[in-house]
Amino acid sequence: MGGHIPTLDDLGDVRGKRVLVRTDFNVPMENGAITDDFRIRAALPTINWLTEHGATVVTASHLGRPKGAPNPKYSMDAVRARLAELAPGVELLENLRFDPGEEGNDPAFVARLVDGIDAYVDDAFGAAHRAHASIVGPPQTLPSAMGLLLQKEVEVLLGLRNDPKHPFVAVLGGAKISDKLGVVEALLGVVDSLVVGGAMCFTFLAAQGHRIGDSLFEPDQVDTCRRLLSGATEQGKTIHLPDDIVGVDADGNYATFGNELPDGAKGFDIGPGTAAAFSDVIMDARTVFWNGPMGMFEDDRFAAGTRTVAQAMADTKAFTVVGGGDSAAALAQFGLDDDVDHVSTGGGASLELLELGDLPGLEALRKAPNA
Ligand code: ADP
Ligand code: MG
Repeated sequence: MGGHIPTLDDLGDVRGKRVLVRTDFNVPMENGAITDDFRIRAALPTINWLTEHGATVVTASHLGRPKGAPNPKYSMDAVRARLAELAPGVELLENLRFDPGEEGNDPAFVARLVDGIDAYVDDAFGAAHRAHASIVGPPQTLPSAMGLLLQKEVEVLLGLRNDPKHPFVAVLGGAKISDKLGVVEALLGVVDSLVVGGAMCFTFLAAQGHRIGDSLFEPDQVDTCRRLLSGATEQGKTIHLPDDIVGVDADGNYATFGNELPDGAKGFDIGPGTAAAFSDVIMDARTVFWNGPMGMFEDDRFAAGTRTVAQAMADTKAFTVVGGGDSAAALAQFGLDDDVDHVSTGGGASLELLELGDLPGLEALRKAPNA
């Protein structure tokens, strides 16, 4: 950490230069069509800044997981067509991950990427936690900068980590607890309380000795959850867990439970009492970070908990930040994405930046020749 990360102004005069912009155009697609162009629109301020300053812009991104081989399913054609509407004249290279050199950070692939390029801009926050060729390669030789989107993400998320207004509440949910325990641990150092819903809550409930039926849970994480719960108590922090749960009973019928689930039952959402309690915590906070839906919100029967939390995020006077693809999708589904202060374009990247305070992409920019 430490050291200056160059911004667009540090590129010098870009008039007549070819500037490679690493964007995150990893957009959701269905049957070859883009279902949400948020990530393309999010790159426009940087692209427009560069073209207004006389540069020729070449963008490059990954899309999906083609695993190092060309695959028409992951072609950039639809993205290129949308980009041509939003930013005419801007080039877009083929999917970076069609070449194994991207994820392998192969110097030969980096050399091909920077061939004929005069400067590099990283605006791909969603990929900044990966030491891939297009992220860490170009700044080794080219004058480089973070784009406006990346700059905003870094300001907001490092602001949360380093200087939040209290009470600071983190609301965590989603499916995979093992991915997120590092963040829980790091966040416990800075938050005043933690609110846990989603499938994640069942491993915590099991750690407290509750019966969780057949709900999703990760047995090998129970000890860690137990340790986090007692660590929180020692630090005078609160971890709020559900005391009612909505899901299905052993026969698959919709049911509401307390915090003890009978054998065969599955929990798919926080219950109404819990949702109200969680939203009170959010309303009383001055800073809130939310990652991970409170339930299986894709199914209408189990969307209420996530909707209540999303509404509280929109209504609270607190500074509100949402990270995570599915959480952002839930907000958008409820029409509330304009009512929070910052929706991060990076799921994993936002968690890693909060946890570690740095990312490989930022580290690379700090070492650029113009830094
Ligand atoms: P994000 O993308 O916001 O980081 P995750 O990817 O961690 O969130 O988790 C999102 C997924 O978690 C959603 O698809 C949702 O259906 C699922 N989920 C949340 N709660 C539950 C639950 N109780 N049981 C099963 N799946 C759940
Ligand atoms: Mg997700």
